[in-house]
Amino acid sequence: MVFKKGKKERVLSYFIKTYGCQMNVNDSEYLAGQLEEMDYKKTPDLNNADLIILNTCCVRKKVEQKIYSMAGRVSQIKEDNPEVVFGICGCLAQKEIENIAKKIPYIDIIFGPSQITSFREIMELYRQNEGKETIIFCDNREPLKLANKPIKHHSPITAYIQIMKGCNNFCSYCIVPYTRGPEESRAAKEIIDEIEELASKKYKEIMLLGQNVNSYGQGLSNKDNFLNLLSQINKIEEIKRIRFTTSHPKDFNLDLIKVIKDGSKICEHIHLPLQSGSDNILNKMNRKYNMKQYYNIINNIRKCMPDASITTDIMVGFPGETEEDFQETIKACQNIQFDSCYTFIYSNRENTLSPFLGEEIPLLTKKKRLWALMEVQKEISSRINQSLIGKTVEVLVENRSKKGIENQYWGKTRTNKVAVFSYSNNDSLIAKLVYVKVKKADAYTLFGELIYVKRE
Ligand code: SF4
Repeated sequence: MVFKKGKKERVLSYFIKTYGCQMNVNDSEYLAGQLEEMDYKKTPDLNNADLIILNTCCVRKKVEQKIYSMAGRVSQIKEDNPEVVFGICGCLAQKEIENIAKKIPYIDIIFGPSQITSFREIMELYRQNEGKETIIFCDNREPLKLANKPIKHHSPITAYIQIMKGCNNFCSYCIVPYTRGPEESRAAKEIIDEIEELASKKYKEIMLLGQNVNSYGQGLSNKDNFLNLLSQINKIEEIKRIRFTTSHPKDFNLDLIKVIKDGSKICEHIHLPLQSGSDNILNKMNRKYNMKQYYNIINNIRKCMPDASITTDIMVGFPGETEEDFQETIKACQNIQFDSCYTFIYSNRENTLSPFLGEEIPLLTKKKRLWALMEVQKEISSRINQSLIGKTVEVLVENRSKKGIENQYWGKTRTNKVAVFSYSNNDSLIAKLVYVKVKKADAYTLFGELIYVKRE
């Protein structure tokens, strides 16, 4: 039970709003774990929360604007009820420490991604200070401290595991190396112990997270590397699926492809950010590979695992991107035939080199390029998904239909495609591996019928 100062005894509640990538989702899981250990209870209602945390992202300007607008809303709540504790954490907090303190006068605590598991200590300081000053903790060089920390996973089926933090790559458009700091890998034993514990709690799927998982192990004193780590996880009996993200093409080699192929639980889905199909732009982006090398990786994947799905990220409108550069990107998509593609418009980020590398592309041109790319990709994704009609795919059932359709369930294939099927209302299928025959498909979803449930 938690007591609220000067008021009737009652349980305090928390509200966390998460922006950005899976890494941030995982950070929020650690926050929630610590809060629940401190006896706070989750509330879906921002207006009723005693503690509100915005876990932020600053990869794109648009998201940043949304966060400041949300912070304005929370400030209003805090103005009406000064006992509410208001915190901002994550990448934007690390990047904008002073700006946040200036722009959001009602802010109580600001902490960076590296301080996520120090929340109890931060709250202790806040209480000792009786909320008189903003508590600021932002040090992106602080080492990872995830072992044995309380965590509340977002799903009872799939668990996210950060195997490393930070990034040393300094792509010229990216702010992550400045917000999350230098790369640091966790010891393999610590990761394996955590996964074994998750397996004992009946988790089926593990998603390994890092900004560049293929370089896992660099800087560790022993021989831990990504290949060994995958092979060790593959031996944990109760875990049925292993996924990982994100891979950097410069570190994606043939040995890794072989480990994925041989690891019966390692899913045949490879997310390999391309960013641009033009060597000129890739060079300016400091991506450290060219199109010949990228095609080589794709050919190796297809040779070893013809049924693997390959997805990517592509950014349009990098400074100085010409129409010819953009057409190279379209050509790359047509040649490679990605299963799906996350498309973005470039936006200038503070501290990065990219704004100095070419003329800014007008917003309308950027938008037109984005639309053209999306159209090409949609057609490719539809065609690939429709080629699965008549085939049977393995699906890990996640839940009932998101659209609330009665007797409908959804899950993901090993290749990370969403599959929907009907079954007489029986939640016992959730978290089970089932086989579904694909009857229909569009660019985003496979629709099928349940053939059988895999025996465990
Ligand atoms: S690899 Fe490049 S894009 Fe990815 S986090 Fe590191 S710097 Fe950013």
